[in-house]
Amino acid sequence: MDLARTDLYLDGRWVPAPDTATIEVWNPTTEEVIATVPAGTASDVDKAVGAARAAFDGWAATAPADRAAALDRVHAALASRSDDIARTVALELGTPLKVATRIQAGLPLTVLRGYVELAARPTEEHRVGNSLVAREPVGVVGAITPWNYPLHQIMAKLAPALAAGCPVVLKPSELTPLVAYLLFDAIDEAGLPPGVVNLVTGTGPEAGAALAAHPDVDLVSFTGSTVTGRRIARVAADRIARVALELGGKSANVILEDADLATAVKVGVGNAFLNSGQTCTAWTRMLVHRSRYAEAVELAARAAAGYRLGDPFDPDTRLGPLVSAAQRDRVRDHVVRGLADGGRLVAGGPEAPVPDRGYFVAPTVIADVDPDSALAQEEIFGPVLSVIPVDNDEHAVAVANNSRYGLAGAVWSLDEERALRVARRMRTGAVDINGAPFNPLAPFGGYKQSGVGRELGSYGLDEFCEVKAIQR
Ligand code: NAD
Repeated sequence: MDLARTDLYLDGRWVPAPDTATIEVWNPTTEEVIATVPAGTASDVDKAVGAARAAFDGWAATAPADRAAALDRVHAALASRSDDIARTVALELGTPLKVATRIQAGLPLTVLRGYVELAARPTEEHRVGNSLVAREPVGVVGAITPWNYPLHQIMAKLAPALAAGCPVVLKPSELTPLVAYLLFDAIDEAGLPPGVVNLVTGTGPEAGAALAAHPDVDLVSFTGSTVTGRRIARVAADRIARVALELGGKSANVILEDADLATAVKVGVGNAFLNSGQTCTAWTRMLVHRSRYAEAVELAARAAAGYRLGDPFDPDTRLGPLVSAAQRDRVRDHVVRGLADGGRLVAGGPEAPVPDRGYFVAPTVIADVDPDSALAQEEIFGPVLSVIPVDNDEHAVAVANNSRYGLAGAVWSLDEERALRVARRMRTGAVDINGAPFNPLAPFGGYKQSGVGRELGSYGLDEFCEVKAIQR
C-alpha cells in the first residue's frame, strides 16, 4: 500500500497542496518514515474555511432525511475500508491490530451509525409560554484532533456536526494523518456537497492555530492536551467563538473492600494499559481499600508482567510502542521521577527489557504512590499504573477528587448502591460501576481541566446547535 499523500480535500475534491512542504509520518514500531503528507498553511486553511462558509446555507437547509442519507453513504464507504483503517492505525500509531480492528476501526463506525439515526430525526422544537424554541446549526466548525484514537476522535466531531447541519474543516494530528485520508477517500466516494467537509493536514502551530483563529469559524471543537486546549480557548475568546474542549485526564479506579478484587484489578490494569496507556480516560490511579491493598498490588504486578510487548501485527502482542520517541522519553522520565518521589516499583520500570527497536515502555506498576506527587497528578499517557491505599469510602472520594482533571473513573463493590453513592460524589464526567461497558450514546466529556462540553449521542449533537426563541 502506497501511503504517501500530496493533496488536501477542499470544496468537494482532492487538490494538490500548493506549498511543497511536507510532514513525515513515522512507524513507531520500526522507527522508520512510512509516508509524507502536506504541511498545510494558513492560506490552505483560509480556502477550506471559505468553502465551508459557502456550503453552510445549503447544508443547513438540507432536509434531515437527506443529511442522514449522506452520512449513511459515508458509513458504507468507510465500512468497506475497515481493514485498511485498522492496518493504517497499527502502522502510524502502533495499536495492536486486534485492538485497532475493534476500537480504532470499529468504534467510529458505531458512532457514525448512531448519528445516521439522529440526523434522520427532524430537530425538535418545543414551546415555552408564547415562545417557539428552535435548534439551528451553529455554523462552520473547525475540528482539531489528536493521535491516540485518531479516527474515533474525528468522528465524534464530524458526524454530529454534519448531522446538525454544520460544514466542517478538519485538521487532524500530524502524527497520525493517514487514517484521516482514508476517511476522506470514503467521504469523496459518498459524494457530499462541495465544501461540506474539508481536510487540511499540517502542524498544530501553523494549520491548527490558523483554524482556531479564523474569523469565519463559529465553533472550534478540539480534542488534545490541556495545554493546547487552553491556548485555543484564549484565541477563540478574542472573537467570542464557541469552543468545545476534550482534554486530558487522570482517572481513579476506586476498589472498595467488598469488591471482586481479581476482576477489579484485572479489568483496571487492562484499562490503564489500553493503547499503551495512551487513552485520555485511562484509570491511571488505582485506589484500593487498605485491607485488600497488598493483595491488589500483587495481582496488578502479575497482570502487568503478563502483557506481551511487540509488533502490532503479531497476534500475540498485547502492547505496542508509544507513538513517538518524545512520548516514550516523557513517560520514562515520569517513571524515574515517580520512583525518586517514593513510589515502589512492582512491575516494569525504566530498566525493564523492551524490544530493541520501537518506542516501547515496559508495562509498569508503581505502588505506595503519594496522591499529591507528580505521578498521581500529571497525565503520563503511557503504560504506567499508580496504586494508592485508601482507608474508607470517604477517603477514596477525597483522593479520587484530588486532581485538576475530571474525565472518567470507576468504582467496584459487590454492593451496587454503595458503589453508586461513591460514583455520584466523584467530580468527573463518567464513572463505570463494576466494569460496565462503554456506551457510545452516553455523553462524554470532562469536569474541571478535562474540558468543556460533551461529545457523543444526542448531547454531542447539541454542541453543534444554537438555540433560538421565537415569540408570537
Ligand atoms: P496536542 O494538544 O499536542 O495536539 C492535539 C491537536 O492540536 C493536534 O492536531 C495538534 O496539531 C493541534 N495543535 C497543537 N498545537 C496547536 C495550536 N497552538 N493551535 C491549534 N492546534 C494545535 O495533543 P496530542 O499530543 O495530540 O494528544 C494527547 C493529549 O490529548 C493528551 O493529553 C490526552 O489526554 C488528550 N486527549 C484527550 C481526549 C479527550 O477526549 N478528552 C482524547 C484524546 C486525547
